Amino acid sequence: MPYSTFGNKFTQHSGITELMEDLNAGVLAGDDVLMLGGGNPARIPEIQQRLTEIMQTQLSNGQLMNTLANYDGPQGKNSFIDALVVLFNDLYDWGLTSDNIMLSNGSQNAFFYIFNLLAGDFGNGIKKKILLPLAPEYIGYTDTCITEDAFVALKPKITKLDNGFFKYHIDFDKLKITDEIGAICVSRPTNPTGNVLTDIEVSRLDKLARAHNIPLIIDNAYGSPFPNIIFKSVLPLWNENTILCFSLSKFGLPGARCGIVIAKPSTIKALSSFSAVMALAPGGIGPEIVRPLVESKEILGLSDDVIKPYYYKKSQQAIIFLQQKIKTPKMRIHQVEGSLFLWLWFDDLPIHSKELYKRLKEKGLLIVSGHYFFPGLSQDWKHTQQCIRLNYAQDKEIVRRGIDVLADEINALYA
Ligand code: PLP
Repeated sequence: MPYSTFGNKFTQHSGITELMEDLNAGVLAGDDVLMLGGGNPARIPEIQQRLTEIMQTQLSNGQLMNTLANYDGPQGKNSFIDALVVLFNDLYDWGLTSDNIMLSNGSQNAFFYIFNLLAGDFGNGIKKKILLPLAPEYIGYTDTCITEDAFVALKPKITKLDNGFFKYHIDFDKLKITDEIGAICVSRPTNPTGNVLTDIEVSRLDKLARAHNIPLIIDNAYGSPFPNIIFKSVLPLWNENTILCFSLSKFGLPGARCGIVIAKPSTIKALSSFSAVMALAPGGIGPEIVRPLVESKEILGLSDDVIKPYYYKKSQQAIIFLQQKIKTPKMRIHQVEGSLFLWLWFDDLPIHSKELYKRLKEKGLLIVSGHYFFPGLSQDWKHTQQCIRLNYAQDKEIVRRGIDVLADEINALYA
């Protein structure tokens, strides 16, 4: 059956579809697959325990049933939005009102709305793109726009650090905002690299965006104040020119599918119209469960004292495994500043990272090939084929066994 252009665009092979199918297969296969691909967060006992208690209370007092039995408005559950307004204003003095926040069915869903609002065909032959100033960038952005070639990315500057680490930086000297740019977007912490843009870098992007009268989109899925999987001290930035996106997924509720967008009221109104057409309303279950934690501000303590140290410890353990098992000095690990991934660069890798992914999958290890993380950048740059992303959030034993499989393959390739 022939599909429409729109249909073809969304049914073609995409990295994010492969990643989510692998993730599901990995979860279903249990211990048979070493699941270091995908972006599933860890099941942290203290967080699961607290969420279970809240759900039990809400089940017995009827609140959970009430949420399930009603639609919310297209902007999302008002009581949760009100609680978020208070939390953010108390923390950062942003002067938000409920007109500044909307919810979505996961932040992935919000990015579809945001990118299609700001990039694509503007009539009279004008086309706009989203600028990703620091490649590599999140795989999930790649196919979100209904128009082709909606992203343009900038190659990073690379600093080689001691002990086999490296770090990407925005190459501000080469960052040019032309008329075809509709918005700038960064994930902070960055998926896949774990990079965290400094406050100075974000402030420079903010100034550039304002000078060109385009929004700065900041994807804060792993950032502060929740889930706060961020290992250095930085401040979140928001002003009327910023579209700041959060998610409940990495707090521990990916199945609840709840994203949060903070923006100026006219943007929230526009995005809420998308929501009405595409989904009537975003799901209310995540907002209902997390609302008490936001109202009491307990979410901050859980993020700072439970989630952050949990991931930090795991990241350091995974680095030890990698450095013990992988013999080649050609492996470099991106400095780990946040998120739940390690980004590995194998300089002069004799095969494409896509082929490495296939070989590892045959041996029961799932990782993600790095080439997917360069939306908007030509793959002529060899570096795009020399990197992989590992999720280190799984149990220690799974991570250890996964790194053993990876090490066998890599050591043989460089031998
Ligand atoms: N942004 C980043 C950087 C992510 O890593 C993810 C998921 O892994 C998302 C957005 C989308 O997450 P969700 O739709 O679960 O909120």
